[in-house]
Amino acid sequence: MKKTTILPNPSMNTRLSHTGRRPDEQHGLVNTPVTRGSTILFKNLKSLDNHSQTFSYGRMGNPSTRTVEEIVTELENAHGTVLTPSGLSAISTAILSCIKSGDEILISDSAYEPTRKLCDGLLTKFGVVTKYYDPRIGTEIEEIINEKTSVIFLESPGSLTFELQDLPLITKIAKKHNITTIVDNSWATPLYYRPLDLGADIVIHAGTKMFVGHSDVMSGTISTNEKLWESVKKAHYLTGVCASPDDAFLIARGLRTLAIRMETHQKNALELASWLEKQDIVEKVLHPALPSHPDHTIFRRDFSGSGSLFSIILKPAPREAIAALVDDLELFGMGYSWGGYESLVLPAKPENIRTATVWKEKGNLLRIHVGLEGIADLKADLMAGLNRYSQFLEIK
Ligand SMILES: *Cc1c(COP(=O)(O)O)cnc(C)c1O
Repeated sequence: MKKTTILPNPSMNTRLSHTGRRPDEQHGLVNTPVTRGSTILFKNLKSLDNHSQTFSYGRMGNPSTRTVEEIVTELENAHGTVLTPSGLSAISTAILSCIKSGDEILISDSAYEPTRKLCDGLLTKFGVVTKYYDPRIGTEIEEIINEKTSVIFLESPGSLTFELQDLPLITKIAKKHNITTIVDNSWATPLYYRPLDLGADIVIHAGTKMFVGHSDVMSGTISTNEKLWESVKKAHYLTGVCASPDDAFLIARGLRTLAIRMETHQKNALELASWLEKQDIVEKVLHPALPSHPDHTIFRRDFSGSGSLFSIILKPAPREAIAALVDDLELFGMGYSWGGYESLVLPAKPENIRTATVWKEKGNLLRIHVGLEGIADLKADLMAGLNRYSQFLEIK
């Protein structure tokens, strides 16, 4: 948004409310309307020839998508943002924009599984080699970098196991070797974590999650610093991953309330996580904002708040115990995704995903997205589930 002498540095909440709006251009309407369209007419040959129109074809954006891009650019302190139809298409487009055949990519072992599948399953066909590294790696990352390394892909925290990465350290090393760093920032959102300010080149979001906030739209964004902007914009254009204006309208609507939703998600998640930490049957709570978390120092240094999502490790018990816990929950649904107003759980097995590190926990992992329901109700629902689970524990 425009900075004025009265508001040289508006707060994030003010930016969320005011960025990307143009009531003067749209009959005074507060929100950018849905502008559907493929063909956009040129006024004359000159405007066709010299690309002088703001919008020239549906795939290349329109007022609805521009509003979302402007908001995210503002929040991430980026040079520019492109909107994509899903989080995964943001990841694939960002990666494609900076690799060539023969290159190597380094990915955190904690990264979102489809990111791994994209690299292992598709990029290998083009001669791109992917290597995984311990998310808690420090300066040793330099030992796995070579002259072919072109990208380091980070997710901090990993959205299943919640290790944090030392982003300032990694971006410093990456810059020395002219390597592009891409960060998946879906968990914290730019309200609580700003990877570009910490030295990253590209930030992606699964907008599907917190930006949309209502579990009803797929969306992704790629924001970059000035250096990477032209190549990302070009990759976005060439791969044709354009977002629908109807979806863009809903994403912009979601973004306007991101700050107040995040506050409640954060508060509810922290309260539930601290409470779970006191339950006998819970061996560990993996939430970076808890002092017990191994990466809590990094959290305090680099983040200004925490998200809705964390995991717990339950005492070992057979699969039936998890079924007993999750099948009869009344408020928590079970499903992929997260970020909506409603609470979710997802049992997962990181031991089957990792390759660079060994997942040592013997107990069952349950990922929890804490929604906007009343906290006492969420506790009661989970407590009943934990009691059902505990009936399957071996009595020692
Ligand atoms: C969901 C998710 C994605 C992918 O987003 P989609 O919109 O489902 O494609 C990427 N990264 C993280 C951390 C996610 O949770």
